[in-house]
Amino acid sequence: MARDIIDDRLIGALHLRALSRAGLAKDAALDHVAYQAGTLSSLMGGAFDGDLPLADLLAHGNMGIGTVAALAGELIIVDAMAFVIEADGNVCCPDPAVTSPFAVVCAFAPHHQFAITEATTLAAVCRRIDEVVSRPDSIVAVRIDGRFRNVAVRSVARQHPPYPTLAEVTAHQTQWRIDSLSGSVVGFRFPDTVAAIDVPGHHLHVISDDRLAGGHLLDLEIEQANVYLDVSSELHLELPVGVQLGPPGEADRESIARIEGQHRS
Ligand SMILES: [Zn+2]
Repeated sequence: MARDIIDDRLIGALHLRALSRAGLAKDAALDHVAYQAGTLSSLMGGAFDGDLPLADLLAHGNMGIGTVAALAGELIIVDAMAFVIEADGNVCCPDPAVTSPFAVVCAFAPHHQFAITEATTLAAVCRRIDEVVSRPDSIVAVRIDGRFRNVAVRSVARQHPPYPTLAEVTAHQTQWRIDSLSGSVVGFRFPDTVAAIDVPGHHLHVISDDRLAGGHLLDLEIEQANVYLDVSSELHLELPVGVQLGPPGEADRESIARIEGQHRS
């Protein structure tokens, strides 16, 4: 069982529903609901395979991020197409039958939009997003389309059983920098209260317009962009077989920040 998986403040802050696979399917038409497969705690513990096929994940949203079975790269879903950025930077289109141990998607329908017309840092944009959606308990789906410079990304290499912990994997992650990129940044801002379920703060992936480059986003500079925000107050969580929501507890936020290389604003 995943440890310390849920912060008790989460219960009051979010309409969290852990559903069976059948229950999840019934709610597929709901708007402004984020769907999640797996939890960050189970991923941190080395549960890298998951049992939700990407085809099922895509039935619940056209935009999102995560990873795929065996932690074989960074998953990004944009315009209802799934891509995986592998550790060597190669971008592939995964088979719909490939499972995901951890992913979040939504049916993206933005409530807010703003343009960036001058050079701006990622941290500044994240602060602006936090101003636009100031309720700290909201889940914000983020899409930034534009031209970017100095794009720092990372990915992780496919693992083989017996799986190590996520911290051991990310200690050997590959990072690289893309000088200039036109594309889309996709991800979510999750409340701090979901630390064991998801990555608190801004968790973003990026992919180029030609779908040939991308990764888990560590940093970038924006030359020009349009930012679109979709606010969800509800998270539907699809738990892998054998994973239970545990008792309330403090999440290991430091470990998460280390693993995710957070650019906390
Ligand atoms: Zn990521």
